[in-house]
Amino acid sequence: MSRKKGIMGGTFDPIHYGHLVTAEEVRDYFDLEEVVFVPSARPPHKIGQEISDPEHRYLMVVLATVTNPYFRVSRVEIERPGPSYSIDTVRYFKSVWGEDTEIFFITGADAFAQISHWNNPTELLSICTFVAASRPGYRLCLESSLQGKVKVIEVSALAISSSEIRRRVKRGESIKYLLPEAVENYIYKNGLYRT
Ligand code: ATP
Ligand code: MG
Repeated sequence: MSRKKGIMGGTFDPIHYGHLVTAEEVRDYFDLEEVVFVPSARPPHKIGQEISDPEHRYLMVVLATVTNPYFRVSRVEIERPGPSYSIDTVRYFKSVWGEDTEIFFITGADAFAQISHWNNPTELLSICTFVAASRPGYRLCLESSLQGKVKVIEVSALAISSSEIRRRVKRGESIKYLLPEAVENYIYKNGLYRT
């Protein structure tokens, strides 16, 4: 394998420094050429929850990543009809990047712990390298079948979550320094998370 690229999927409602620090530390540690952020359109595990319009989430990811030359944003899940399955996304990037690119799929430890409930986890684990980043409050306990199939890395602890940010906005509390200022301004300008 000659090239290494990362994919960071998520709902990003909104994107915050936990996501950004994780992606950057993984990129640096594994010497990845780039990390592609992939906002999901209809996350299968969040059906029934209220999620912001995909275009808002996409634009916030663009605003947050614009200052990092190694970060890029893909609309592939937003444009694809139906539920957003990671397996379809990884297959897509595999076909675009070719067989000589090793794909690093970056998740938080909480998300990786759910992988057996994802669509087609066996194929997913066989076609990309999983990186599970330690996330404050989540201790990664893996079934033995998964051990050895994932690289676990400690990222600088950032106890930030999108749900906490949404809760704070709703209550009128400050979200300063939890996410890029451009994203904070976007949230207020568009009246997100107030109800
Ligand atoms: P929510 O609270 O709505 O679930 P979230 O903060 O978990 O939002 P997601 O969009 O659900 O954000 O997460 C996308 C990916 O980023 C997941 O793999 C998740 O584990 C990871 N992630 C989220 N926050 C952090 C963090 N603070 N540190 C490391 N990884 C994180
Ligand atoms: Mg989450």
